[in-house]
Amino acid sequence: MNIHEYQAKALLRDYGAPVSDGRVVMKAEEAKTKASELDGPLWVVKAQIHAGGRGKGHFKEESAGEKGGVRLAKSVEEAAEEAKKMLGRTLVTHQTGPAGKQVNRIYIEAGSGIETELYLALLVDRQTSRVSFVCSTEGGMDIEEVAASTPEKILSFSVDPATGYQPFHGRRIAFALGLEGPQVKQCVSLMGTLYKVFTERDMEMLEINPLIVTDGGDLKVLDAKFGFDGNALYRQPDIANLRDETEEDSKELEASKYDLNYIALDGEIGCMVNGAGLAMATMDIIKLYGAEPANFLDVGGGATKEKVTEAFKIITSDKNVKGILVNIFGGIMRCDVIAEGVIAAVKEVGLEVPLVVRLEGTNVDKGKEIIANSGLNVIAADDLKDGAQKIVKAVKG
Ligand code: ADP
Ligand code: MG
Repeated sequence: MNIHEYQAKALLRDYGAPVSDGRVVMKAEEAKTKASELDGPLWVVKAQIHAGGRGKGHFKEESAGEKGGVRLAKSVEEAAEEAKKMLGRTLVTHQTGPAGKQVNRIYIEAGSGIETELYLALLVDRQTSRVSFVCSTEGGMDIEEVAASTPEKILSFSVDPATGYQPFHGRRIAFALGLEGPQVKQCVSLMGTLYKVFTERDMEMLEINPLIVTDGGDLKVLDAKFGFDGNALYRQPDIANLRDETEEDSKELEASKYDLNYIALDGEIGCMVNGAGLAMATMDIIKLYGAEPANFLDVGGGATKEKVTEAFKIITSDKNVKGILVNIFGGIMRCDVIAEGVIAAVKEVGLEVPLVVRLEGTNVDKGKEIIANSGLNVIAADDLKDGAQKIVKAVKG
């Protein structure tokens, strides 16, 4: 689960990390009052969406000479004006995709004088099964670009969980970032704080881009992108409360209510599968036969008829779906339950695209019989290959 920059900064402030004073604005009328609570001479007005690249982004239907989603203002009035201009509009960045994201919240922050912009991240490294620090002197811009063209400018190392964070980790980062004098001590302390937030709050990703050296020579967090482990939210209720559902894919949100593992993709073939491994294999084989999956969906081992019905509704609500492949291996799951769920769902939501069903495993005969007797126009398949070929053929001709 991701949170907004202003929420991440509030969390950092609680942990004692150096962040600027700021106010979140939800309604245009509040903008001026909120801005006037901050000291000048510079105010920074920042669109809050769950995507980076806001500074270099652009608004849909922008007027000539208009700036992106991060704007500087020299007075309270100007800050309020900029906030009003951005609220409710759609911001497109290289991370939002062409559709962009609607801006419903604005963060107005006291402006900082910037000496240098650095990059810092913490993430869970699957290769080492440890938490890793990633840092670079090339902050403020696209880190993916730096990684591709000048990888030597990125330092990355993992922390041994048995010792946890140690001051030498911080000194190593300070050295790599070219910090000097009192900044080294600030860096050792800040990295310790970040590691503490990361581990105590079950985070998956923490990115500070840029981390800056101010014109006064101090380290400061200027941007913050935080992602949390969804499986740990039950023990982080205050983090779970920060969830902004308007930022999430409505189909994924619906799926999470029914405990379905669903991820929306761009293709045309909707998939309903049980088990993550089989779901991956199904997506692979669809691609192999020349089509693209519209989603990843694992209905889980113990899915009920209701859950299958919901899953089916979510798939059919996707306008890109031109065909559906149900691929179930009944182990714990019984094929007849799946068959009943599919039929109940089709009766409820209707079926406007071809449907291929491949069932195997427990109660497979009963399942096939239910489908055959349903009177629905379902294409039966015998195995994974057969199923994939049939749905691709039905969709692509
Ligand atoms: P994004 O990464 O989404 O573009 P950032 O928060 O990193 O958004 O802002 C983009 C740039 O705007 C920063 O690299 C920095 O140069 C400038 N900026 C952001 N916040 C401030 C601030 N409080 N004071 C001065 N400059 C800022
Ligand atoms: Mg940034």
